[in-house]
Amino acid sequence: MPIYVKYRNRAKEMGARDAKIISAASIVVADWVRLKCQFGCDGYGQNLTCPPYSPAPEVTRRVINFYKKALLVHGDEYTDIHAMIPALEREIFLNGYYKAFGMGAGPCRLCARCAKFCRNPAKTRPSMEACGIDVYSTVRANGYPIKVISSAGYKGNYYGIVLIE
Ligand code: SF4
Repeated sequence: MPIYVKYRNRAKEMGARDAKIISAASIVVADWVRLKCQFGCDGYGQNLTCPPYSPAPEVTRRVINFYKKALLVHGDEYTDIHAMIPALEREIFLNGYYKAFGMGAGPCRLCARCAKFCRNPAKTRPSMEACGIDVYSTVRANGYPIKVISSAGYKGNYYGIVLIE
C-alpha cells in the first residue's frame, strides 16, 4: 500500500479528521513564531516541549532540509494530537523510516509540572509552533483550513506533523 494511503488511514483510525503526505519543502518556518510563544503563552519556559527548550527556528529549518516528505495530520477539538503524533512517529519509524520525527500542537500536559528531565520522552513531542513552524501558512499551502480563534464558540482546527524521509 502506498505510504500516502497507509499513514492517512492510520491517522484517521487514531482520530484525525484527515491526513496527507506533503512535501517537506512546503513547511514554513519563521523567526516571528517564537515571539508568539514568548510573549503570549503561559507555557513559555514552563514546559520541556516549549521554548526555550524546543528547537529554535534556525535549527528546525536545518532539520527540515534533511527531509523530502512529511505526514500532515488535521484534527479538531476531539482529536488527541498530542498522543497521536508520537504513536504515528513510532509506527513510521518501525516501518523502516528511521529519521521519522513528529511535532504536535500546544504544550505537553502529561504531568502536572515538568521535571528537570522529561518523565515521558517517548510519549511527547514539541508542538509545530514551539519549533518555529508557521502553522497557518503551512496548512493553508497544503489545502487545509485554519483561522484565528477569535471567539469561544469557534471550533478550532489542530495540526500535527511527522517528518518521514
Ligand atoms: S511528559 Fe511531563 S516532564 Fe515531559 S514534557 Fe510532558 S509534562 Fe513535561
